Amino acid sequence: MPRRMSNAPYDQTLRILRALGVNFTEGARTVASPIDGSELARLTDQTPGDAQAAVARSVTAFHAWRRVPAPRRGELVRLFGEELRAAKDDLALLVTLEAGKVVSEGLGEVQEMIDICDFATGLSRQLYGLTLPSERPGHHMRETWQPLGPVGVISAFNFPVAVWAWNAALALVCGDPVIWKPSEKTPLTALATQAVFERAVARFGDGAPAHLSQVLTGGAELGQALASDPRVPLVSATGSTRMGRAVAQVVAGRLGRSLLELGGNNAMIVTPTADLELAVRAIAFSAVGTAGQRCTTLRRLIVHEGVAAGLIARLVAAYPSLPVGDPREAGTLVGPLIDAEAVDGFRRALDQARAEGGEVLTGGEGLDRPGTYVTPAIVRMPAQSAVVEHETFAPILYVMTYRDLDEAIALQNAVPQGLSSCIFTGSVRESEGFLSAWGSDCGIANVNIGPSGAEIGGAFGGEKDTGGGRESGSDAWKAYMRRQTQTVNFSDALPLAQGVRFDV
Ligand code: NAD
Repeated sequence: MPRRMSNAPYDQTLRILRALGVNFTEGARTVASPIDGSELARLTDQTPGDAQAAVARSVTAFHAWRRVPAPRRGELVRLFGEELRAAKDDLALLVTLEAGKVVSEGLGEVQEMIDICDFATGLSRQLYGLTLPSERPGHHMRETWQPLGPVGVISAFNFPVAVWAWNAALALVCGDPVIWKPSEKTPLTALATQAVFERAVARFGDGAPAHLSQVLTGGAELGQALASDPRVPLVSATGSTRMGRAVAQVVAGRLGRSLLELGGNNAMIVTPTADLELAVRAIAFSAVGTAGQRCTTLRRLIVHEGVAAGLIARLVAAYPSLPVGDPREAGTLVGPLIDAEAVDGFRRALDQARAEGGEVLTGGEGLDRPGTYVTPAIVRMPAQSAVVEHETFAPILYVMTYRDLDEAIALQNAVPQGLSSCIFTGSVRESEGFLSAWGSDCGIANVNIGPSGAEIGGAFGGEKDTGGGRESGSDAWKAYMRRQTQTVNFSDALPLAQGVRFDV
């Protein structure tokens, strides 16, 4: 008689994988749930040779897909959005089970996939190029955006499905197939997403070639295989700066293109005119959401010395009541860290902060239960020392004070990462100064809203050590295409105008 299914992570995972029709070969790599450390599945790692074979299939798919008109390609992405809507609850719960995100964040992540599908569907009719007046009589010049080729997508554990969708939805309407190397910590959500995508392909019919999207499960060596393969013109990689450096160098070595979304060390400046009630809520949400494991997590609080004591007291009073626990339970705000290594990193950072003169005002403890749970910490720092300049992927908020706004902006900009930033102020002069050319040097700059929680419509990405890439909205699609300037002579002469080269 079959065993009755419980609500243990393993059983819930199995139910979802079956419902979505996910198949994989059992192997040696264990996938565990951060909820309680229990095993979810064992997968076979693919090899660099498998990656090369996947690239070959992708090239074949590209040759067919680039001939499909862009609005038809958009139709596939529209169908994918529909399939995601139908599978939203299952896929979101799988994100919770595998990555440990609270339920609302899992749902939010799948919603981002749906949003980018909507965006890309419209975009498929707007891959605009310019028409240019030619200085030569009887000539027509235009700029055309052409499909690029297979796109390699390397993704991080903390946005196990949304980041791929940001890339894939744009790549597909641009005429490019995708090869996805998800984090080895979250391969199941990737396989589930692939199964949902295949449903859209089946509905689309014969016009879609096989292997438009492929998943490679395994470790960093598969990412390296994509990075070094000259048949992959664009490698889009999301993860740590360490990984970004490795990928960028290999891709640049073959003169390929990389789009990097790397670490963040995001700050909030709170000025004396700020609405402190609003600031407290924004701080709590952006510093502890996803247990501090977002690239846009608030890590540094730079508060004017006149309001610091009151603001810190309110935060220290509020933090212990933030519910930490099983991310599946209603009301939980802070789920687990991804694994034991992340807990070690959290502890080490707090030790280093103490050694650098910091005082842990609240939190910083592990929870006495299976899984990798910690209580979010607030640390008062005497200065922006080494530990503050480093991105520790855990819920630690460093607090520092400032006297004048220029000093605060200099502090905010004085870290190697440059992803997201914000100011809380009631003063137009302060907010516009923060947004000016001499203000925040980050890719994202917000006023009276925390640094996390980007929308699909705006291009997402950072500056400096974050890789300088842009994904998702705005004109990010241009990274997935090649620009071609075309000139047509419709006269019966071959005129030579000033400044125009004529090679015989
Ligand atoms: P990670 O760098 O350890 O791994 C990310 C991915 O890169 C994984 O798939 C991994 O297998 C692969 N990889 C690792 N080394 C590689 C190499 N040498 N060559 C090719 N591939 C390699 O990152 P993580 O721990 O999964 O994620 C956390 C990091 O990601 C944080 O730094 C966070 O800020 C960053 N992140 C950034 C964004 C963004 O949009 N800017 C979004 C999410 C996460």
